[in-house]
Amino acid sequence: MLGAPGAGKSTRAKMLAELLGQQHVASGDLFREAVALGTAQGREAKSYMGRGALVPDAIVIGMIEDRLSRPEAAAGVVLDGFPRTRAQAETFDASLARRGERVTAAVYIGVREAELVRRLSGRWVCRANGHLFHATDGPPKVPGVCDHDGSELYQRDDDRPETVRARLEQQLPPMFDVVDYYREAGILLTVDGEQEFAQVRESLLRALGGQLQLPGGAART
Ligand code: AMP
Repeated sequence: MLGAPGAGKSTRAKMLAELLGQQHVASGDLFREAVALGTAQGREAKSYMGRGALVPDAIVIGMIEDRLSRPEAAAGVVLDGFPRTRAQAETFDASLARRGERVTAAVYIGVREAELVRRLSGRWVCRANGHLFHATDGPPKVPGVCDHDGSELYQRDDDRPETVRARLEQQLPPMFDVVDYYREAGILLTVDGEQEFAQVRESLLRALGGQLQLPGGAART
């Protein structure tokens, strides 16, 4: 699942993973876990994440490959936030090819930059399970408290307005490079991420219908 920070790719990736009965693997979540656990990878990643920069490719790829080698990943995964550079995409493809596997589809969720800034700087995340809320678009019933599990809501350090702009400036060019990479490979699907929430889901399933075996023919309308 490809998209700028704030394009809604995590929400869509989780939905798709559930539908396909596959694991949702988000590189950002893996890094946040590693930071919270204080591992060597986490300590190294933290300095990049804090300033909105991309973590070096070698660290990211090592972490993703480690995750994909686990038995839970055998049925395939929905990747979210990876690859973020052309080098990551190329290295990943080469590594999959060695195992006789491949990326089946790359979905790009497109959202304009001004809308991304608006969405990201209003975003609040629940501490316990990562449920997402938005100050104006989807506020919680009680301010500062998650509707689903009652845990505290917080703003990610890198969702503060000054970091949001830095993140976009640094992360959009390599993301477009990755989008081009998959377009050249003939497996890119594009979905307009600024449509109504339910319409994005529908467009996504329709786009994927030809590529994946979706239960109940959900996407074949
Ligand atoms: P995310 O939750 O996807 O926005 O990721 C949070 C942060 O983790 C990003 O701003 C990057 O610093 C880092 N990160 C996540 N995925 C990658 C990746 N594939 N390549 C490099 N850095 C990454």
